Amino acid sequence: MSASSGTGAVNYRNGTQRGSLRTQSSNSTSAGQKSSLKSKSVLRKSSPAALGGGSSKGGSGGDAGVPGRVRVAVRLRPRNGEEMIADADFADCVELQPELKRLKLRKNNWDTDTFEFDEVLTEYSSQKRVYEVVAKPVVEGVLDGYNGTIMAYGQTGTGKTYTLGQLGEEDVADRGIMVRAMEDILAEVSLEMDSISVSYLQLYMETVQDLLDPANDNIAIVEDPKSGDVSLPGATLVDIRDQQSFLELLQLGEAHRFAANTKLNTESSRSHAILMVNVRRSLKTRDGLPSESSGNSHMTKTLKPPVVRKGKLVVVDLAGSERINKSGSEGHTLEEAKSINLSLSALGKCINALAENSSHVPFRDSKLTRLLRDSFGGTARTSLVITIGPSPRHRGETTSTIMFGQRAMKVENMVKLKEEFDYKSLSRRLEVQLDNLIEENERQQKAFVDEIERITVEAHNQISEAEKRYANALEEEKLRYQNDYMESIKKLEENWSKNQKKLAAERFALGEKNGLDITSNGNRSIAPALEEVSELKMLLQKEAQLKMAAEEEVNRLQHQLAELKKVEVSGNSEIMRLHKMLENETQQKEKLEGEIATLHTQLLQLSLTADETRRNLEKHGSEKNSGALDSFMSQLRLPQIQDPGNAEKQPVARLFEQVGLQRILSLLEAEDADVRIHAVKVVANLAAEEANQQQIVEAGGLTSLLMLLRNTEDETIHRVAAGAIANLAMNETNQELIMDQGGIGLLSSTAANAQDPQTLRMVAGAIANLCGNDKLQTKLRSEGGIAALLGMVRCGHPDVLAQVARGIANFAKCESRASTQGTKRGKSLLIEDGALSWIVQNAKTETSAIRRHIELALCHLAQHEGNAKEMVKEGAMWELVRISRDCSREDIRSLAHRTLTSSPTFLTELRRLRVDIR
Ligand code: ADP
Ligand code: MG
Repeated sequence: MSASSGTGAVNYRNGTQRGSLRTQSSNSTSAGQKSSLKSKSVLRKSSPAALGGGSSKGGSGGDAGVPGRVRVAVRLRPRNGEEMIADADFADCVELQPELKRLKLRKNNWDTDTFEFDEVLTEYSSQKRVYEVVAKPVVEGVLDGYNGTIMAYGQTGTGKTYTLGQLGEEDVADRGIMVRAMEDILAEVSLEMDSISVSYLQLYMETVQDLLDPANDNIAIVEDPKSGDVSLPGATLVDIRDQQSFLELLQLGEAHRFAANTKLNTESSRSHAILMVNVRRSLKTRDGLPSESSGNSHMTKTLKPPVVRKGKLVVVDLAGSERINKSGSEGHTLEEAKSINLSLSALGKCINALAENSSHVPFRDSKLTRLLRDSFGGTARTSLVITIGPSPRHRGETTSTIMFGQRAMKVENMVKLKEEFDYKSLSRRLEVQLDNLIEENERQQKAFVDEIERITVEAHNQISEAEKRYANALEEEKLRYQNDYMESIKKLEENWSKNQKKLAAERFALGEKNGLDITSNGNRSIAPALEEVSELKMLLQKEAQLKMAAEEEVNRLQHQLAELKKVEVSGNSEIMRLHKMLENETQQKEKLEGEIATLHTQLLQLSLTADETRRNLEKHGSEKNSGALDSFMSQLRLPQIQDPGNAEKQPVARLFEQVGLQRILSLLEAEDADVRIHAVKVVANLAAEEANQQQIVEAGGLTSLLMLLRNTEDETIHRVAAGAIANLAMNETNQELIMDQGGIGLLSSTAANAQDPQTLRMVAGAIANLCGNDKLQTKLRSEGGIAALLGMVRCGHPDVLAQVARGIANFAKCESRASTQGTKRGKSLLIEDGALSWIVQNAKTETSAIRRHIELALCHLAQHEGNAKEMVKEGAMWELVRISRDCSREDIRSLAHRTLTSSPTFLTELRRLRVDIR
């Protein structure tokens, strides 16, 4: 069963993102193209930028990426038939942690070295995934007009040729990188406008041979001193128009390689096979005019060159990396040994120089590196796959292969560590956040003050307006009133004097006629006076009405005034609220500033100590520069495992932990999901080292990790957190803590919701560890631990199944111990939960990691007579019989035998069936 563990992620993790190194200037090459004359007509600003240093161009970007950075993936070959038989338990010697991109190499029973790579490809990795991870970014670069190299390095027999050159004619899934790269290229180019041409070469004993024309066996490498382009004018160059012709070409090359090597009496593992693919693309430009970027307008009239983008892909299947003894043992001639050592060590030196961004890259030291000069480092993209085999017998070669890959990773490791504990960027981020807050705060404050001012002014205006209106109205009313009053008085006076006069005249006249009839004359003069009175009454009434209207107006204005007062009050309370908000804001700002200050100090401390350590290490081993850095790196990773006697190394380890832990744990609860993922990865990394585990638990890390399972939905977080919990669950005290904090329930529900096999593997691993604790058996089972384990077999991934099997074996072992001590009676809880049928079904699996555990589980179950009947019924007894006969491990074989012969139930059954188990 094939299982691609694929997440499908194609991007490299760190450093440059796809294409971030690309610049406008083309540095493509003509690599021996027959059309080299024509190619010269395309003016290029070609520069030796491709040659490593990366000093001038494109380097201005600073820390975005390391120019010339070699991406390194490690790939483990699956066990072959022979190794299956030997049943080498590779897991004991190498452990891959693809999710952490780590490889652990066991040094002895107690010590493990941990290495990080860009990609860690397990034995289950599909060829497709390997292509996507290792080669696709390089091929994409080539299609964009850049050069690129893909190399495989490793001991003979570890899968270099399988990875690069497999044709996959029987099974398309087997196709290697060369075939897939050509497929991608063909799919991308247009055959009318573009061209693809291929050379296929062998480099043996510092001689370049043409695999497409065996007579052509000493091809010169030519370098253009100006452009730095490398070409092989003597090599056959075949135009490729379809996939079939390419496959035929590869087959032809392989046949020639075999023939040539037979003639030379050597093996292909001692030479390098080199495939060069030149891709030449014409760019469509508007109106058929060349694009501006070609910068050759003065040439267009005469030559009209099309805009051409050229990229070269070089795929190198390197000679076997096994350390070759100078004495010529293993059938190597001395010359051969020298030449293989020369080219591989020159390659190593160039990789180191590129990794260190050194100004000099010793390309001239060998033919191989001369050939790669323009396709390697600089703006070219380089991928290296290091292949290792599963056999513990080759531990030495495996280690040296890993070290080769690590040297190529060196700079990246620094970058990576910077990323994982990147206080600088964290502090930068916090600073940016803080600045944003400060700005926002300032803006709000200003807006707030403005608003208050506006409200106050408005209120004042309204009040004074109202007062003015009131006063005016009052004044007007008064005036009008006074005027009217004066007017009426005047009128009254006039009338009165008029009447007076009239009266006097009449009286006078009357008095002359008869001095007595005063009354009747008096009566007659009263009538007009009455009229006057009623007129006055009316005036008075009008006045009263006017007065009322004025009073109403006054009331209205008073009411308005009260309203305005209310508005003012509510404005004041709004002001208070804003003030309070402002205070909160300020407090928060202060808190953040404090944090930043702490981070700054921590960062400073960390980098000071790191510098000091590096200086010390360099002092102690300046001739072995790379070794010093390597050991510095591994110190950081393995704080306490390394050489505890060396007092100099301790401060780094201590500081690293002390500074890191509290901070990192607090970041597990960060708001920002990125920060959380980041933090949980760091915690998982730390938890992977036994030395850190106690501290993590004491600092509350375990609780935080469990909380993450409960409170997040993110599967990456679940996976990494479960991985960390699994690591912590190796220790008995922690196991109890996990159980006490409801760990089984959390792990079970994580398992129920997880899709990714790696998440399931982590969860199963954690539960498997808990299964090995005698005290927790009943609780674990009653909280659904066994059911959760059995539920995870749905995913079918061998890594997950292996963990499930391990858990079952652990559980069965505890049960059998309990039954020997007499504390356990009745059927196994495993059998009650239905595990037996799965055990029986998988007892013959090919995957030894699973089978081993299942075999042990069967033996443990069989030791408890209470299980015997059920085991007979389910066919488990037959598996025991098989194990007692065929198991490759002696101890398990005899354990199975012992359990069969000591159980009365089994003995009766075997006798009944006449099976002899002696
Ligand atoms: P190398 O080129 O490093 O000497 P090969 O590619 O020839 O190694 O591999 C040795 C053997 O292992 C071959 O039979 C090959 O088919 C097989 N092999 C290598 N890698 C794998 C893999 N990932 N899956 C299956 N078979 C593999
Ligand atoms: Mg090979």
